[in-house]
Amino acid sequence: MTDTALFSLLLILVAPVAGSFLGVVIDRLPRGISVVAPRSACRSCGTILGARDLVPVLSYLRRRGRCRTCGAAIPPALLYTEIAATASAVLAVIVGDTPLQMALIALVLWLLWTLALIDLFHFRLPDPLTAPLFLAALAYAWLYGDPALALSGAAIGAGSFLLLRLVYSALRHREGLGLGDVKLMAGLGALVPPTDLPLLVLVAALSALVAAALTRGGWTADRPIPFGVALCAAGALVWLARVVLP
Ligand SMILES: [Zn+2]
Repeated sequence: MTDTALFSLLLILVAPVAGSFLGVVIDRLPRGISVVAPRSACRSCGTILGARDLVPVLSYLRRRGRCRTCGAAIPPALLYTEIAATASAVLAVIVGDTPLQMALIALVLWLLWTLALIDLFHFRLPDPLTAPLFLAALAYAWLYGDPALALSGAAIGAGSFLLLRLVYSALRHREGLGLGDVKLMAGLGALVPPTDLPLLVLVAALSALVAAALTRGGWTADRPIPFGVALCAAGALVWLARVVLP
């Protein structure tokens, strides 16, 4: 077995465990709880979860998504995150050429998924995730692209969203676009070529509109939309398309 094949296998095997950890990050980071210190426990009865409760995917399926002690439902987002993390690793192995490239692609996809879910549930895009995304995008550009282009893309992405934010709050006297979206655009701008940024924002805006239209209760101007979710999804799509078809 070659080193690359061995690493591919290892990445796919580690991915569900990484997904479990990302599930903890999604649950705890927005609530300001340490992602390492307290051991994982049932949110209903407080039972500390043991090794057999923490096997990714399998524990969830075996308990049919319920706590072993009290039977309370475990949020399915955890299961989806473990599956998405594994799917991202498989995608990274297919798309990447070297172990380092595969690892970086998986890392970027894991960060985007985590950011999207936190924005979906909490309307926040925390700095401890947008900053690593920006750094990973720069590292990727430095190794496989053009760092100068990535930096200008980051400036254009973040700059245009900052301008949009300022104009909106001047016109409407309330916040329309969060600072988290501005920081997310720095990372996405570093990831895709600047010429792809209009397409990225267009895809994100259209999918956000479709999602808002399909949401029960419909869309109203006062209801916040977690636009970061759409940006993360569109970013992953446009970026991967560029990696596959340069
Ligand atoms: Zn319980």
